[in-house]
Amino acid sequence: MPAPLARACVMGHPVAHSRSPMIHGYWLKTLGIEGAYELKDLTPEAFPEFVTRLAAHGYVGGNVTVPHKEMAFKLVQRKDEAAQAIGAVNTIWLEGGVLNGGNSDTHGFISNLDDRAPGWNVPGCRAVVLGAGGAARSAAYALINRGADVILVNRTVARAQELARQFGPRVTAHVTAELPRLLPAADVLVNCTSCGMTGKPPLEIDLAPLKASAVVYDVIYVPLETELLAAARRRGNRTVDGLGMLLQQAGFGFRKWFGGNPKVTPELRALVEADIRAKTTK
Ligand code: NAP
Repeated sequence: MPAPLARACVMGHPVAHSRSPMIHGYWLKTLGIEGAYELKDLTPEAFPEFVTRLAAHGYVGGNVTVPHKEMAFKLVQRKDEAAQAIGAVNTIWLEGGVLNGGNSDTHGFISNLDDRAPGWNVPGCRAVVLGAGGAARSAAYALINRGADVILVNRTVARAQELARQFGPRVTAHVTAELPRLLPAADVLVNCTSCGMTGKPPLEIDLAPLKASAVVYDVIYVPLETELLAAARRRGNRTVDGLGMLLQQAGFGFRKWFGGNPKVTPELRALVEADIRAKTTK
């Protein structure tokens, strides 16, 4: 008898805009895996029943997106360390009938940095991270786990301070006005605010104090090259974009549901880049 078809899905409300089916569909096809990855639009009322009876609905796992990440955090029976630290679950999978929850952003963030800027983790590495929301939380967690010190800079300093309290002495919190004084120390500069994203305010930053060897990373992927990355590229800094993070984080769930070794290939990047270009208005 053939093995049952493994099915996974992205659960959100709305979900029609999700690029996850494109990414997972590419890997299923190129790796020759018999599986399916579907969109599941679930209202907040429908989500708890669906996720807690995932197997009965015919799924082995999936991604969780807005507005269900906090509810998923409450409903899973077991959480991995990253989800626990970040306080949100965006990937779920069944293991021996137990509903597990993880957070793939931290994996995506660091795999992308390793891939696009090898050697970034210099001795005594210091990372200046802009922002204190969900993306900054994932980035800071990933960076301290690799031994870097994190200098968090946020408009609302109380949010950065709360993160620093939770993550311990490797993380310090600062207001945006301190940035010019802090920038010269950065081996890695990461934008985790929504500034610079298409339709949002620009990121106001002067890169002049940054050393030439610093890596500049923007987690935003619409546009594909933000003003920050363009400015960094022009002055010769190595740059890392947010699309790589999006693609790398997807591999985390794919391995749990379907196995195999999904790789972020130039072909996959080109596929998603074309979709972003087609749907982005300047
Ligand atoms: P979030 O939780 O809403 O946090 C937004 C952050 O941006 C906060 O630190 C906020 O500061 C800051 N901010 C917003 N508007 C600002 C302004 N006008 N001036 C200064 N700071 C401002 O959002 P998130 O989930 O962390 O996402 C942030 C960005 O990361 C989004 O663009 C998202 O698309 C991107 N992202 C990318 C990936 C990927 O896979 N590449 C994954 C996750 C997120 P306050 O605390 O002061 O409000």
